[in-house]
Amino acid sequence: MSIPEAAVAAFTEAYGTEPAGLWAAPGRVNLIGEHTDYNDGFVLPFALPQRTVAAAGPSPDGTWSVCSTLAPEPVTFGVTEPGEVTGWGAYVAGVVWALQDAGFEVPPARIALASDVPLGSGLSSSAALESAVLTALIDLGGLDVPLERRPAIAQRAENVYVGAPTGILDQSASIRCQEGQALFLDCRSYQIEQIPFDLAGQGLAILVINSNAPHQHVDGEYGARRKSCEAAAEALGVKALRDVAVADLDRAMDRLGDEVLQRRARHIITENQRVLDTVELLRAGRVRDIGPLLTASHASMRDDFEITVDQVDTAVEAALAAGAYGARMTGGGFGGCVLALIDADRADATATAVADAYAKKNFTAPTSWVATAGPGAGRL
Ligand code: ADP
Ligand code: MG
Repeated sequence: MSIPEAAVAAFTEAYGTEPAGLWAAPGRVNLIGEHTDYNDGFVLPFALPQRTVAAAGPSPDGTWSVCSTLAPEPVTFGVTEPGEVTGWGAYVAGVVWALQDAGFEVPPARIALASDVPLGSGLSSSAALESAVLTALIDLGGLDVPLERRPAIAQRAENVYVGAPTGILDQSASIRCQEGQALFLDCRSYQIEQIPFDLAGQGLAILVINSNAPHQHVDGEYGARRKSCEAAAEALGVKALRDVAVADLDRAMDRLGDEVLQRRARHIITENQRVLDTVELLRAGRVRDIGPLLTASHASMRDDFEITVDQVDTAVEAALAAGAYGARMTGGGFGGCVLALIDADRADATATAVADAYAKKNFTAPTSWVATAGPGAGRL
């Protein structure tokens, strides 16, 4: 059964009627620019073909109900405040709340979700869910919510209602990405630019390798990194680390003194520059040449930001040894996925090389697939 069919089946099973329509929103991989979003910096994600589909229709009784192929029993709620709906239903109640809080009259609705975005693997199944639900509610209610406002509404659902302190990257990618393009996003101004990302035309591919490493201490470490970045910005007298240019790196290091803060700040400052350099190369059609920037980004996350684990380092090393032009962990860290830029005809060989390296270390086997840049959220 396809994902849209699964969503329709879950809807009719739960509510005994047909949905009014189907809306989809994708997961994403971030090509480069990690942990830069909450430092007012730059990111460059693209949307995955994997997506979350919301089958939705009007509700007869003024409430909202949601079920998922992963949780078939509907969660039902009325108008709520953050914290009232808990568990996975909070992502949906959060979207309803955030839309209402932004002044919109949200139509009561029944929703069923199905998805092929892996949960908790750093591909942002949470933003895919929020964006699919948000788009469905906006269309069902005929609400006039401009595209550029939508990511911040979905982000508020996750930050304030669910209580997860994420940046604007995930929701922006799921809502604003376009097929065949990477999304260059300035996380301070929310200015976006679609950057042509033509892999196939150059005989290239991005292999995504899910490290399948157990996610541990993710939230605590994420919060600690945010705090370090804020402390470094304050010590340097800037609003955010985005305001420190690579040309001023040495001076910034001298002023920071503290060795951990130095390394955390150095990652953000150099990573922002790597995003800008990647965008320049892609604009010039030099896709292959971004490889060294990807690998440098990984080294920076491993040595300076210290957010990698053995499984992702092993995958990067094995992919590079198998001939990848570049490879890096993508996503918040401590597990999740690795992406490798390879010749299109090297996908199987690279995946096998990584799997072999995992077997040698007795890691749980990785899962690999070739990713293409898919469309952003919309009605099916
Ligand atoms: P990621 O966004 O990297 O996949 P998160 O921890 O941010 O990981 O979000 C995963 C959570 O989102 C799940 O634990 C679940 O609560 C919720 N979620 C995502 N997709 C679905 C779905 N299709 N059905 C039910 N819950 C989902
Ligand atoms: Mg998430």
